[in-house]
Amino acid sequence: MSRILIVEDEQDLASLLEYNLKQEGFEIEVARTGAAGVSRARAFKPDLILLDLMLPDIGGTEVARLVREGDGKRIPIIMVTARGEESDRVRGLEQGADDYVVKPFSVKELLLRIRNVLRRDGSEAKPQAHGTLAAPDIVLDVERHEVKVKGKPVVLTALEFRLLKTFLERPGRVQTREMLLSDVWGIDAEITTRTVDTHIKRLREKLGPAGDVIETIRGVGYKLAPTE
Ligand code: CA
Repeated sequence: MSRILIVEDEQDLASLLEYNLKQEGFEIEVARTGAAGVSRARAFKPDLILLDLMLPDIGGTEVARLVREGDGKRIPIIMVTARGEESDRVRGLEQGADDYVVKPFSVKELLLRIRNVLRRDGSEAKPQAHGTLAAPDIVLDVERHEVKVKGKPVVLTALEFRLLKTFLERPGRVQTREMLLSDVWGIDAEITTRTVDTHIKRLREKLGPAGDVIETIRGVGYKLAPTE
C-alpha cells in the first residue's frame, strides 16, 4: 500500500483528499503546516507527498527543499498550486517537484497524476532496468539511482534523473520538447515546453562541463551527442 503525505492548510480540502485517497487504498497522513510537513516526511516516510504551495508558515518550495535535503530526496512530490502562481510553480518544479496540480482540480485528475508519478518512480527501482548508462564523464546507475560525473556523485532530483536517463538511452537522437514532456513528465496538460528548458538548464548546471553532452537543437529540442 502506497503512503501519501498531504501537506495542506485548507481543512476542507485536506479532509476531502484524505477521504478520497483512503478510499483508493492509500495510507494517508495530513500535515497542516510546512514545518509539520517536513517532520512528517521524515517520520512517516511517504511514497509520495502532495504539497500545497501556499502554507501559513513556510512555503511549499521551501518544504520541498528541506525534504530533499534530508533523506527524502527520492520521494516524489506533487505540488498543489492556485491559479496565478505561475512563477512560483516554475520555482516549485525547479526545487524538485515531480508534477503539480492547479486548484481547483478534480480528485480524478489528481489520482491520475499520483498513479503516474508512483508508476514512474516504481519502474525506475525495478531490477529490469539494472545496469548503468554512460556518456563521456557521466555514469548513471539505474539500480542505485546514482549519477557520477568524473567519478564524483551528483545529486539530481527524481525528475532530473529521469531526464538524463532518457537522453542516455537515446544517444544521437533528437528529442523534441513535446517528446520529453510526454516521456519524462508523463502528463502534458498544464506543463509548458518552457518547463523542459528550465529543467535541462538545471541538469546541465549540475553536470558541469560534462553537461555539454546535451546539445540544443535550435527550434526543435535537444539531443545527447553521440560518442566518438
Ligand atoms: Ca494553502
